[in-house]
Amino acid sequence: MSKITVIVPCYNEEQSLHFFYEEMERVAAEMKDNTFEYLFVDDGSKDNTLACIRELKERDEKVRYVSFSRNFGKDAAIYAGLSHASGDYVAIMDADLQDPPALLPEMYRAVTQEGYDTAATRRVTRKGEPPIRSFFARQFYHIMNKISDIEMMDGARDYRLMNRAYVDALLSLEEYNRFSKGLFGWVGFKTKWLEFENVERVAGETKWSFWKLFQYSLDGIVAFSSMPLYIVSIFGAGMCGLALASIIFIIVRQLFFGGSVEGWPSMACIIILIGGLQLLSIGILGIYLSKAYLEVKRRPIYIAREVYTEKSIPEPGWNQDA
Ligand code: UDP
Ligand code: MG
Repeated sequence: MSKITVIVPCYNEEQSLHFFYEEMERVAAEMKDNTFEYLFVDDGSKDNTLACIRELKERDEKVRYVSFSRNFGKDAAIYAGLSHASGDYVAIMDADLQDPPALLPEMYRAVTQEGYDTAATRRVTRKGEPPIRSFFARQFYHIMNKISDIEMMDGARDYRLMNRAYVDALLSLEEYNRFSKGLFGWVGFKTKWLEFENVERVAGETKWSFWKLFQYSLDGIVAFSSMPLYIVSIFGAGMCGLALASIIFIIVRQLFFGGSVEGWPSMACIIILIGGLQLLSIGILGIYLSKAYLEVKRRPIYIAREVYTEKSIPEPGWNQDA
């Protein structure tokens, strides 16, 4: 009999938590051979999410939680969940039922009987999502697979079930800029991919604006690829070559045909273009530098305000010898 920890990152999810709990209970009842731990991570919610979680905890002793001092982002919530999970197997699941708990038995079979270390999920449709968002998401995966070494599945969710070895591998990556989708691939191991049709949110609304997603995708690229740096370097080198050739051309022309003052507007354009490229390159460099700066500071990935997990609850009789 093994224990499964279900990590649920929650940010302003007061409306969906109860739906989630009911559905999860239904699936847990199906998996009679397992015990469960529901580990909610309240990511600094501004609504009554924490109160809802506490209420669930009073009702059900399977419920555990960590509550952050402010919003640290879903990736920090996942990390907190992984480090507090006590199960033999650990799953990460959204609170809005967009990650159907009903897939859990199949994932469990993959990890326990089919020799996989982790069972991951991807949605094959993006039904119900704004088309522009789908388009950019697809482009992101396309670019990411081209410019980084890790393989990223289009439509991959963070929803997955992992064994202990996989969890420990993820925990050994202590970086501050956590792009979980990349880390999952980076650690390797044998992964089984399960596919499902997109499900719409049960209640509440998405926390991701277009701009936030755009920033997140840049974070992903910076975290897993140095390609932008190479591109600007090669471009810079090309520009230098071009400039050298132009200088030689101008000197030769001056010597044999005499000078002319014509052509200054085109000159101004070139100067502006090169100036722009320099700023862009410095900008790209700056992004990497700022990420490295944050990494060097070694700030904690999250700060908890309240912890109620296996680690924080003393085992019954733990101080018997004292
Ligand atoms: N979430 C979180 N912290 C955040 C944003 C989101 O813990 O800063 C959680 C959220 O509560 C949900 C999951 O991450 O359980 C996915 O968020 P959402 O449904 O908004 O994203 P989408 O499904 O639209 O990509
Ligand atoms: Mg969602």
